[in-house]
Amino acid sequence: MLCGFVREDWYSWDFPDSYEEGINNAGRLTARPMALYDVIVIGSGPAGLTAAIYATRANLKTLVIAGTVAGGQLMITTDVENYPGFPNGILGPELMELWRKQAERFHTDFVDDDATRVDLKHNPMKVWVNEDAYEGRSVVIATGANAKWLGLPSEERLKGKGVSACSTCDGFFFKGLDVVVVGGGDTAMEDSLYLSKLCKSVTIVHRRSEFRASKIMQERVFKTPNIKVIWDHTVEEIMGEKKVEGVRIRNVKTGTTQVLKIQGLFVAIGHTPATELFRGQLDIDQRGYVVPRSTEELRTGTNIAGAFVAGDVHDHRYRQAVTAAGFGCMAALDAERWLQKQGG
Ligand code: NAP
Repeated sequence: MLCGFVREDWYSWDFPDSYEEGINNAGRLTARPMALYDVIVIGSGPAGLTAAIYATRANLKTLVIAGTVAGGQLMITTDVENYPGFPNGILGPELMELWRKQAERFHTDFVDDDATRVDLKHNPMKVWVNEDAYEGRSVVIATGANAKWLGLPSEERLKGKGVSACSTCDGFFFKGLDVVVVGGGDTAMEDSLYLSKLCKSVTIVHRRSEFRASKIMQERVFKTPNIKVIWDHTVEEIMGEKKVEGVRIRNVKTGTTQVLKIQGLFVAIGHTPATELFRGQLDIDQRGYVVPRSTEELRTGTNIAGAFVAGDVHDHRYRQAVTAAGFGCMAALDAERWLQKQGG
């Protein structure tokens, strides 16, 4: 369904004098600081890019601060089989590339770097990328969530030396080897299935006696001959000084420990919302998620007028690409409505 309309003057739209285009390291168009935007979107996963598509198509000057690791969680996912419109599935990075192209088509500006500071308390709001400040009449927070770690000193020591939170990034290095995946959610299942195609064996270590992952993913795991599950165990220590050589795991019911000889360990235990940047300005709950302040009119509002929230940074319940995209759409429509009320 087509909504909105193409303005005749769209392609002759003038940017403020201070705007120029540059090429960043990734070869992308990059916005220069000092421009006043109608909407600044922080984050470039499904929520952020959908917000950008809707905002630009509503003729709002829109900037996406995309982050150094752009694209969100789908960039570290292999097959996405549940995003509507792709009957044969699509690779996560490919989907995000298409999404970004769609946002670029409507002249969204991008900065492929991390936001380092924000001032949401004064309008226009300001978002800094290192020394460069960008001004926005409204802001959409879509920073998503990052992988959680176990918090062991040995994990810290061996990160990048056999310990990873991204099977699609690092799985290749473990070809023909034995690895452990920690966790019992969809990410752990997906990582295990992916790794089972590369590695000699995959052992899932899970702290309970059942998975929380979707049934279809569990079934695939159970049917894969080189994936084994060890229930009711937690990781006590990852062994090795310069590379992973083994892992000591503890049975949570009996207290007994055992050592598995492995060369790689993948942590797949969920995510932490990326909200540090907003502490002291936006309301953040105990788990670190942005607390939305919905009104009848503006469902994606926050405690700050003109700041809207979308995707996994506030949604710990659904956390799907399609729901994040939906929130991104809602946030852009809310921003548009709010800006209209402020006088255009
Ligand atoms: P999740 O559903 O929150 O699962 C995290 C898993 O890690 C749980 O099994 C949890 O155990 C375990 N865990 C948490 N902290 C732990 C710790 N400190 N030590 C040991 N184990 C720990 O996270 P997720 O798997 O990343 O999935 C997040 C969301 O994304 C879900 O909604 C999921 O459906 C979705 N997702 C979908 C797909 C797909 O459809 N292709 C792929 C990936 C993710 P307990 O079960 O005991 O709490």
